[in-house]
Amino acid sequence: MSDVKDLVGLSRDELAAEMAAIGEKPFRAKQLWHWIYNRGVTDFQLMTTLAKPLREKLAEHYVVGRPAVSRLQTSVDGTRKWLLRFADGNEAETVYIPEDDRGAVCVSSQVGCTLTCKFCHTGTQLLVRNLTAAEILGQFMTARDSYGEWPSPDDGGRLISNIVLMGMGEPLFNYDNVAKALKIVMDGEGIAVSKRRITLSTSGVVPMIRRCGEELAVNLAVSLHAVTDEIRDRIMPINKKYPLAELMRALRDYPTNNARRITFEYVMLKGVNDTPSDARALVKLVEGIPAKFNLIPFNKWPGAPFDCSEMNDIRRFSDLLFDAGYSAPIRQPRGSDILAACGQLKSDSERVRCARQKDRVAAGIEDGVHHAAAATS
Ligand code: SAH
Ligand code: SF4
Repeated sequence: MSDVKDLVGLSRDELAAEMAAIGEKPFRAKQLWHWIYNRGVTDFQLMTTLAKPLREKLAEHYVVGRPAVSRLQTSVDGTRKWLLRFADGNEAETVYIPEDDRGAVCVSSQVGCTLTCKFCHTGTQLLVRNLTAAEILGQFMTARDSYGEWPSPDDGGRLISNIVLMGMGEPLFNYDNVAKALKIVMDGEGIAVSKRRITLSTSGVVPMIRRCGEELAVNLAVSLHAVTDEIRDRIMPINKKYPLAELMRALRDYPTNNARRITFEYVMLKGVNDTPSDARALVKLVEGIPAKFNLIPFNKWPGAPFDCSEMNDIRRFSDLLFDAGYSAPIRQPRGSDILAACGQLKSDSERVRCARQKDRVAAGIEDGVHHAAAATS
């Protein structure tokens, strides 16, 4: 049927409105919520607290969808990467990173990214669009399907314990959909991941940082990568719009405490940002902000215009931050054999789509895929 609707991604109110639209009582929405988000059930026939005729009626009008898995790869270190295909054919990547007693799903917020940071593979992808709340949620739910982690348990022994918005895209350029998805993820009667276990990484979209603090209060990670406007302008064009002083001002207002610090991500680029005086300037820059650092050895991708700093320089940088009283671990690259590490994500089916798009544009057909320039506004 062509007019079946996906229930994933609807807010509680929207779900109740759907039930009203098919003549059902509002409490049905509560039951459905439990089946969809706590139990992870996608087949209405398995929703056994609903009477059979209702299950059939639901199946006539709705689906509980998941993105299609275009490709699934598992690294020798256990990292897993999904290339997911959405209804319009666009694709984005999701990564699961296992750790000793837990693990994080790294979720994408956009197909590609409009921001063109010079060290990031995602930023070279031309086709860009925002992901919907359903598509953002669908990534996490697909990961849970994959590890059999339904229903949502309340103990600590889970493989998937955390969510990081560090995949493709700039989450604060797609705030509404990200916020909607996260509110569903945090709902205590559904997936119930606490805000303490969610980290949103931003390149520094200053006006949205405040809203994110007020409305979501998840952990914040900031891609800093440079200590002067001159260098940051060069490697992260967004700095021209929101320079360091403005960014720091917004971060000082973000809800933090000593237990919930802002993480400053710092990609180590040889000869660009990795000297001891950079480390000292970094300490000065974040003064007064409850901060910790995450030093990311630069992950190469084909054609990348940088090299990773020498390991000795990275260690010295980390020691200087540590001596100043900060936690500054060096991030271990995970899943590099399957190009799943930070900044390596890019749907490589893009080339095929680009070719298809060119054909269609030549034929005068609008295909609904936004070009980078159109999606920034
Ligand atoms: N757009 C958001 C979130 C996605 S990127 C942001 O920029 O914060 C996740 C992290 O990987 C960011 O800190 C990003 O700067 C970093 N990164 C990008 N490319 C990288 C690369 N090639 N090597 C190492 N880290 C990279
Ligand atoms: Fe976009 Fe983040 Fe990559 Fe910059 S680092 S291009 S903001 S995904």
